[in-house]
Amino acid sequence: MGRKTVIAGNWKMFKTRAEAAELVEALKREVEGYDEVDVIVCPAFTSLSRVSELLQGSTIQLGAQDVYWEDEGAYTGQISVRMLLDSGCRYVILGHSERRQYFNETDEGVNRKLKKVLESPLVPIVCIGETLDEREAGRVAEVVLGQLKAAVESLTADEVSRIIVAYEPVWAIGTGRTATPEIAEEVHSMIRQWLAEAFSEELSASIRILYGGSVKPSNVVELMAQPDLDGALVGGASLDAQTFAKIVKY
Ligand code: PEP
Repeated sequence: MGRKTVIAGNWKMFKTRAEAAELVEALKREVEGYDEVDVIVCPAFTSLSRVSELLQGSTIQLGAQDVYWEDEGAYTGQISVRMLLDSGCRYVILGHSERRQYFNETDEGVNRKLKKVLESPLVPIVCIGETLDEREAGRVAEVVLGQLKAAVESLTADEVSRIIVAYEPVWAIGTGRTATPEIAEEVHSMIRQWLAEAFSEELSASIRILYGGSVKPSNVVELMAQPDLDGALVGGASLDAQTFAKIVKY
């Protein structure tokens, strides 16, 4: 079964509404109608509605960078699934390493968020990945599979079949240091193998596993040539329309 490639841009805490609008207009000029891959942009919460309006009828799709697990209530500063849907989102990133590192995101929190998101039509992009210390200590499988197992804890195969996984080695994020295609493929195939054992061959063969960590126009081709890499989650290089378009049209 063919897995359609996904190229998703994580804009992190960059861009005001006007700047986000400018970026998405420029991106539309570059990739509108290009349907070889699924193109997703994930602006900051404040720009979601504005970007959503500009993407009406577009082939470019909208995602958010995080969500909270409660429906509503006294949770100052949080955003709900319903709010994201109302803002035009179809995707949401969960468990990004920056949230784990700086905002105390735990495996349990990712699992609660994932369960809530899967009650809705939103498609979660679940991020997992080891730090440099963990890699050097030979703990890649333990950490990466541990995060994945914890994220999907008590979910059904049907639910898990709707997620997108993003393998993002922490040492490669925003550092300019990309995993070699071989290193990335090794981890991606290990993730796919685990999904086959934990759920089924069919599920494992259909799930899209993205790579993230300093993806650029100069390295995207060799990364995407690996059999178990089904796309990229792109940070820094997604903030410039022409650079991101080169990655989209690799
Ligand atoms: C990311 O934030 O998901 C990411 C991969 O960032 P960068 O491409 O800048 O390394």
